[in-house]
Amino acid sequence: MGEVIVLVMERKLVECAKILRKAEKIAVLTGAGISTESGIPDFRSPNGLWQKREAREATTRSCFFYDVDTFYHYFAQLFLGWTGIKPNPAHIALAALEHELGKLVFIVTQNIDGLHQMAGSTNVAELHGNLRTATCPKCQKQYDMIMVREALAAKQQPLCECGRVVKPDVVLFEDPLDPYTWRQAQVWTMKADVVLCVGTSLTVSPANTLVYNRRNDSTLVILNTEPTRYDSQADFVFREKAGEVLSRMLSICRQQE
Ligand code: NAD
Repeated sequence: MGEVIVLVMERKLVECAKILRKAEKIAVLTGAGISTESGIPDFRSPNGLWQKREAREATTRSCFFYDVDTFYHYFAQLFLGWTGIKPNPAHIALAALEHELGKLVFIVTQNIDGLHQMAGSTNVAELHGNLRTATCPKCQKQYDMIMVREALAAKQQPLCECGRVVKPDVVLFEDPLDPYTWRQAQVWTMKADVVLCVGTSLTVSPANTLVYNRRNDSTLVILNTEPTRYDSQADFVFREKAGEVLSRMLSICRQQE
């Protein structure tokens, strides 16, 4: 980066950090891009998971109900290999905003990887569910995802004790969002002084509608390596890696103490 660009970027970071320091409530909308620095690919980038058409078509609600073996073949390939993953500096900086700087931080994530909770964030609404559990669609008994992993490793279907195949607690294509989680996400975004979007292309609905349902006087910050359709509405846009920007922002906030 040229010297002038570095200076402009630094000034923008300082201005944005001032606003974060003043804010009481910060809503953070995160997407797959926040976890790429933890080694998990995103969906829509050129090397993203969604480039495999068969995988996209198989990880749907209808495929689960009509061809569960194909569903689990691709589901396991796409999602169950994420073992030993760790939060990266972006997740850690967001947790520090809460625990070190005393902000009320509400994380609304489209991710299913559980990395925000692993980093220590307390208020996390997982819009698209999680990879920790699976539930029987017939009797609603819930299982740890370990049961699913073990069954698939033994080349068996992950069966509930009632005999039905259990379904991961992930919101698949054609699945509705959990209404309680969605309401929580709406309320958190409407209450926030700052809405910070990190690593999301803001193309997935209804998650992206949270951006224009925010309070009129709130500050909108977009941090994503690629342009998003909401950039023109944002008060601050950073087209850099999430880990670098959020760590730097946190250290500027600390200096402003
Ligand atoms: P997306 O794939 O549509 O967009 C991710 C965005 O992040 C891209 O615009 C990309 O340019 C940007 N990005 C990549 N690396 C970045 C970095 N280091 N710093 C900043 N930005 C970066 O993701 P989305 O909008 O979140 O799509 C939503 C869907 O993806 C959700 O349904 C979610 O469940 C699913 N998903 C989740 C995970 C996960 O849990 N980690 C991974 C893949 C996909």
